[in-house]
Amino acid sequence: MANVLWLQGGACSGNTMSFLNAEEPSVCDLVTDFGINVLWHPSLGMELGDNLQRLLRNCISGETDLDILVFEGSIVNAPNGTGAWNRFADRPMKDWVQELAGVAKFVVAVGDCATWGGIPAMAPNPSESEGLQFLKRDAGGFLGTDYQSQAGFPVINIPGCPAHPDWITQILVAIATGRLDDITLDEFNRPQTFFKSFTQTGCTRNIHFAYKSSSDEFSQRTGCLFYDLGCRGPMTHSSCNRILWNRVSSKTRAGMPCLGCTEPEFPFHDLAPGTVFKTQTIMGVPKELPTGVNKKDYALLTVVAKDAMPAWAEDDIFTV
Ligand code: SF4
Ligand code: SF4
Repeated sequence: MANVLWLQGGACSGNTMSFLNAEEPSVCDLVTDFGINVLWHPSLGMELGDNLQRLLRNCISGETDLDILVFEGSIVNAPNGTGAWNRFADRPMKDWVQELAGVAKFVVAVGDCATWGGIPAMAPNPSESEGLQFLKRDAGGFLGTDYQSQAGFPVINIPGCPAHPDWITQILVAIATGRLDDITLDEFNRPQTFFKSFTQTGCTRNIHFAYKSSSDEFSQRTGCLFYDLGCRGPMTHSSCNRILWNRVSSKTRAGMPCLGCTEPEFPFHDLAPGTVFKTQTIMGVPKELPTGVNKKDYALLTVVAKDAMPAWAEDDIFTV
């Protein structure tokens, strides 16, 4: 049985919503079949007031084993490093996190705000937000670079805005069943099993990408969203087109460009206003090319690809 404590900092509850929508396994399956015991969760926990404080203090004292501390939302340090803007159970949330992370066997950061600071940490960052072990791309964050949980792991980062339900449940199951050693973390402490490949892997529009057949309207059922609509699929590490959302689809399959929500820079607010869904170009060439592609080769390839495009590459395959 693995005791899980889930707390929220500077959060919108999006990752909680995602978690509660998990299907295979569902949250109920986690409890009945996978040995997860939810000690407390903001939407599920029954304890309030003194009872909740007692529960938290019992974890800190070791009276209750804290196997997995899940954190959703940013660590709020404002004002002036006190954390008083985000009080919880009678003290700054960051003080609870500091002590609980010190005793937890594993710490899991769920969603962009907990991993990198996310939207709350956007400049000018009035809430002085940061992620548990990163601030955007910089290692460190609230717990510091050297932090290791009691089991000897850094904070396990599951980014996304929100994270896919399966990414959350499958990591919890891997920990609860002692299989985390089989999972390799990348340089940002993301499990490679979900974040090694790009969003583009498995996208149904790959053929349109290859032939430079572009879609310039949302929800259009043919054409790639990279050339005009700013799709970040080729630069974003996620498994959204391998492990589908609701087991059915993904943003790009539905004609919505990938916004790059699993990357530390999300939401890319340095883009000029009104240009999020517009591919930035210099002399007709996208400013940001797919990761690993050389500019010269790209230019050559796209000219040839467009000329070689077969007529069927522009057919709407959903209309007979
Ligand atoms: S729509 Fe996006 S993810 Fe899909 S092929 Fe085009 S660039 Fe790649
Ligand atoms: S498709 Fe892109 S923006 Fe959408 S959830 Fe996946 S990584 Fe995030």
